[in-house]
Amino acid sequence: MSEKKTRHPVLPVIAVRDMMLFPHMTMNLDVGRPKSLAALEYAMEHESNVLIVAQSNEDIDDPSGKDLYTVGTIATINQVMNLPGDVSRILVEGVRRGIAQSYHVSKGMLTATVTPYETNEENTPELEAGIRAVQDAMNALNNVSQRLASDALQNIYALSSPDEFTDILAANLLPRLTDRQKILETLNIHERLEVLCAMIERETEIAGIERRIQAKVHASMEKNQRDFYLREQLRAVQSELGQIDGSEEEELRKRMESTPLSDEAREKCLKEIERLSHMGPGTPEISTTTTYIEWILDLPWGKTTEDNLDLARAREVLNKNHYGLDKVKERIIEYLAVLQVKKDMKGPILCFVGPPGVGKTSIVRAIAEAIGRKFIQMSLGGVRDEAEIRGHRRTYLGAIPGRIINGLKQAGTMNPVFLFDEIDKMSSDIRGDPASAMLEVLDAEQNMAFRDHYMELAFDLSKVMFITTANSVDSIPAPLFDRMEIIEVPSYTEEEKLHIASLHLLPKQTEAHGLQPGAVTMNEDILRRIIEGYTREAGVRTLERTIAKVVRKSVVAMLDSGTMHRDIDLEQMHEYLGAERYTREMPEQEPRVGIVNGLAYTQVGGETLEVECSTMPGKGVLHLTGKLGDVMKESAEAALTWVRSHSDQLGLPEDFHDRLDLHVHVPEGAVPKDGPSAGVTIITALTSALTGIPVRHDVAMTGELTLRGRVLPIGGLKEKTLAAYRAGIRVLIIPKENVKDLEEIPAYVLSQFRIVAADQIEDVLKEALVRLPEGLQASLSAD
Ligand code: ADP
Repeated sequence: MSEKKTRHPVLPVIAVRDMMLFPHMTMNLDVGRPKSLAALEYAMEHESNVLIVAQSNEDIDDPSGKDLYTVGTIATINQVMNLPGDVSRILVEGVRRGIAQSYHVSKGMLTATVTPYETNEENTPELEAGIRAVQDAMNALNNVSQRLASDALQNIYALSSPDEFTDILAANLLPRLTDRQKILETLNIHERLEVLCAMIERETEIAGIERRIQAKVHASMEKNQRDFYLREQLRAVQSELGQIDGSEEEELRKRMESTPLSDEAREKCLKEIERLSHMGPGTPEISTTTTYIEWILDLPWGKTTEDNLDLARAREVLNKNHYGLDKVKERIIEYLAVLQVKKDMKGPILCFVGPPGVGKTSIVRAIAEAIGRKFIQMSLGGVRDEAEIRGHRRTYLGAIPGRIINGLKQAGTMNPVFLFDEIDKMSSDIRGDPASAMLEVLDAEQNMAFRDHYMELAFDLSKVMFITTANSVDSIPAPLFDRMEIIEVPSYTEEEKLHIASLHLLPKQTEAHGLQPGAVTMNEDILRRIIEGYTREAGVRTLERTIAKVVRKSVVAMLDSGTMHRDIDLEQMHEYLGAERYTREMPEQEPRVGIVNGLAYTQVGGETLEVECSTMPGKGVLHLTGKLGDVMKESAEAALTWVRSHSDQLGLPEDFHDRLDLHVHVPEGAVPKDGPSAGVTIITALTSALTGIPVRHDVAMTGELTLRGRVLPIGGLKEKTLAAYRAGIRVLIIPKENVKDLEEIPAYVLSQFRIVAADQIEDVLKEALVRLPEGLQASLSAD
C-alpha cells in the first residue's frame, strides 16, 4: 500500500460530516458524493488506503480543502457494498492519525499529501497518572449519569495502549463532533489525556445540572399526580360507559388484541401496558416502555407469504437474472424440490462460497424472488459484538434489538429469505462471540425459540430460509461450517464476462441511468477491451462499475449533442475511461535467475505469484519472507531436501548447504486456499538460484511435491489457468493428474498455452529452466 512506500504518501480523501473515524475503530460509511465515490474507486483500484477527514463546515455539499480539518484518520477499506442510487456502503478501519499537509483536486477527487502520525510512547509513570485521572473523571461522570455500561467501561480501561484508550473512550463518550475532532487533533498523548479529562469533567457538570432540572420537574410532577389519577379514573369511567378513549395505551391494547401473539408475548405486553397506565405524564420511562411494546407488536406474528415452488418458474427467474452458473442454479433447484416434498426448513444451511462479485448475493435475491418470499440481507463482515446479533438488554441505555429481530420486522413476515453475507468475516473479541449467537440462529433445533436480549421473549425463526455467503471456507467458524452445505460459485472466464456484460450489466446500467433500452451500445470488441484493459478480477464488480461509468458519461454526451443513442467506439472508450490499465503483455521479457511464476488459488480467484529465491554466504539457514502460510514453509523445506539430495546431479558442491544461506520470498497477496501447491515453484526457484541457470519468463507452474520429487495434483486449476491467461503466460506446467480437469476450461483459454503435464520434478525443470544442469540431463538420458 502506498502508505508504506513513502513518508508522505498522497492519499485519496473521503470527507465526512456528522461522524468521525478514530484509529483502531471500524465503522460503516455510506459514500455517495461524486468526489468521495471517485476517491473510493481510486482506492479500490490501487489498493490504497484513504484519508477519512471531517468537514469543518458541515453545510457544504461539495467541500474543498479549506472546508476540511487537517487531521484525519488513515483508513483501510475492508469491504464495499453497492446500495441503490449510486451509493456505496464501505466498511473502513482506522489505522492511524494522518495529518494533511495540503489538499488537491485531481481526477475528480480530493487528495491529500499526508504525514502519518506514529506514536511509540513508553508507559511512563506520568502517562499512567494521566490515564488514572481520566478514569477517575470518567467514574465520577458515570456516578452522576451512566453514560457507558460499566462492563464496556472496564473493557476500555483494560486497553493497554494509551492511544487506543483515549480514542475509544472519546468515540464512545463525547457527543459533540467538535470535541471528538479536538481529541483526534491533539497528537501529543499527555496533552490529549488532559484535554479528554477536562471534557469529561465538563460533561459531569452538565449532567449534574440536568439532574437538578429533572428533580425540579419531578417535584412539580408529584403535585400533578393527584390530578392525573383523578383524570385516569375519569377515563376508566368513560371507557366503562363506552365513551371513546383515544389514549395511547388503549391504542396499544387494541393492537395487542388483534395481533396473534404468543402467550409469553401477550403476557409481557399486558404487563407493560399495565405499567404504562400507572406512569405519570412526563415520566421518562413512558417512551422506552411504549417503544418496547411497539417492538413486540411490530414483529410479524403469524404472518407468512405463500411459497411458490413451481420449479419451471424458479428456473426462469434464475436464468433471467444470471448468466451461466449452471451447476449453482441446478443445486438451487434441487434444494427447492426437496423443500416442496419435505415442507420444512430443517436441513443444512446453504452457503455460497466464491470470490467477490461472482453473483452470490444477487443469486440469493433471485431465489427469494423465485419463490415469492421477502428478502433481507445482513452483512456479518466485521461484526464482533454479540449484541449486534442478539441485541442489548433493556437495562442498557439506548438499547435496541439485534439485527435478526430488526430484519424480521423489516421483512414483515416470519418466513423471509434471510441472507448473511460474509459469514467468514466475523470476528470475536471481549464483547462476546457473535459466532455462537449465530449458531443458535441457524440451528433448526434451537431457533424456533430465539431469544433476543432486548425482547426477552422467544420468537420463532424456524420458518426463515437462512442462506449465507463467504469468500473462503477456511475462516468460517467450525461449528457453523458443520451446519452448512457449501456451494462453490467459481470465477468467470473472459468469455463468460463478455456475455454477462452484454446480456445483463449493460442493459441494467442503461435502465438504472434512466435511458431507453439500447440507448448505449458497445460491440463485442469494445466490451472485450473493457474487460481486459480496465478490470482484473474474478467476478464482475469492477466491470459493472466501469460500464456504469461509460453509461454515465454517455448520458452527458447525449444531452450535449441532443442525440439519444451512443454506440461506444474505441475513441470514446478512451475518452471516458482513460488509458487501459492492464495489458496481457509479459512484464519481464528476459529469463531471470531465481524468479519463477507460480500460480495461487486464493479467496479472490486465481493469481500469478512471483516466487523469488537468492543465495548469500552463510551457514545453511533457510530464510522465508513474504506471505508464507505454514504449508508453504513445509513446501520450502521439502524443496530444499530434494535439492540437497540431488546436489550431485545439479552440479552443486556437496557442502553448499554449509556455506550458503537461502532466501525464499513469496510476495504478499491473498492467502492461498488450496494448501501446498507451490512446491514445484519453490524447487525451480531454488535450483535456478543455486545453479545460476535462468528460468524462462513465459512459463508458469503449479504442483505439490513429495520428498522424492513426484508432482502431486492441486486444486483450483480453472482459477489458476485463468490467472495465467490474463498474465500472458505461454507455457503452463500442471501436475499430470490434473489433466482431466482441463475439460472445464474453455478452448480459447487453452489455445494460448502449451500445456505440460508433469509427473516428476525433472519434467518441470526441463521446461522451466533455459537448460538443464548437465548432471541431471545425463541422468535423464540414462533413464
Ligand atoms: P457477490 O455477492 O458474489 O460479491 P454480487 O451478487 O454482488 O456478487 O454481484 C455483483 C454484480 O454482478 C451484481 O450486480 C450482479 O447482478 C452481477 N452479476 C454477477 N454474476 C452475474 C451473472 N452470472 N449474470 C449476471 N449478472 C451477474
